[in-house]
Amino acid sequence: MTEFRRRQNSERWHWSKGCSNYPTEKDVMISHTKPEYGFLCEECKEKEPLEKDE
Ligand SMILES: [Zn+2]
Repeated sequence: MTEFRRRQNSERWHWSKGCSNYPTEKDVMISHTKPEYGFLCEECKEKEPLEKDE
């Protein structure tokens, strides 16, 4: 299952650990479903394309 993460001061969601902006700190927001608000990171999309029905 894809884990989406964002920093609390950002509305950009990351899910690829290869992303240069992937949040690794402990204090992050995590979602296990596709986020319904905010933005999906373009770099994560490139590195780890999402399943279309996920
Ligand atoms: Zn990213």
